[in-house]
Amino acid sequence: MRRSQRAREIADRLAGAYPDVTCELDFADPWQLLVATVLSAQCTDAQVNRLTPELFRRWPGPEALAAAPIEDIEEVIRPAGCFRTKAKALKESARLLLADHAGVVPRQLEELVQLPGVGRKTAKVVLGEAYGIAAGIAVDTHVKRLAGRFGLSANSDPERVASDLEGLIPRGEWVQFSQRVIHHGRRVCSARRPDCDRCVLLGVCAQRGIKTPS
Ligand code: SF4
Repeated sequence: MRRSQRAREIADRLAGAYPDVTCELDFADPWQLLVATVLSAQCTDAQVNRLTPELFRRWPGPEALAAAPIEDIEEVIRPAGCFRTKAKALKESARLLLADHAGVVPRQLEELVQLPGVGRKTAKVVLGEAYGIAAGIAVDTHVKRLAGRFGLSANSDPERVASDLEGLIPRGEWVQFSQRVIHHGRRVCSARRPDCDRCVLLGVCAQRGIKTPS
């Protein structure tokens, strides 16, 4: 099967299996999604969702967070791990947002990645989920692993994987495709125990690294 055909079939089957899947982080506006996404680095979405209600209650927007004592931010986000680095990045991002963007999360990927703690993956998630802008396919650890197993990318660098996938999946599907692959990676195709026998992609997935491809 050609790679483009495989990609089409995989996207269709995932859409059939998970028609309404969205980002699992809780947020009320683009700023809150940006904060939650930064916190989710090396931390589960569930853990982030447990601590953000208190964070957003105390400092609902960038103005409040920019003025908050760093030690207080650290204390609230401590369960997310790397809390000193993340607190510093969030406080500085809040300050820059106020100074350069009137407190509004920008809609351009190249502007978003200027904020501390915001890489291209985070920027794509924020643009896609908060604004509905398909700036690219967000590649996290699940998307990277599954793209390899699917036989859609032989790269390991996330941006190269993203580029491979963006060449195969139509732009209008980028945001949901990424969310569906993440969902599938969490529930079926885990790192250690991919459940191929009950996978909707069996027969179309190349199963690279799992067994000899058919
Ligand atoms: S067939 Fe197996 S390797 Fe391929 S996506 Fe499904 S669980 Fe993962």
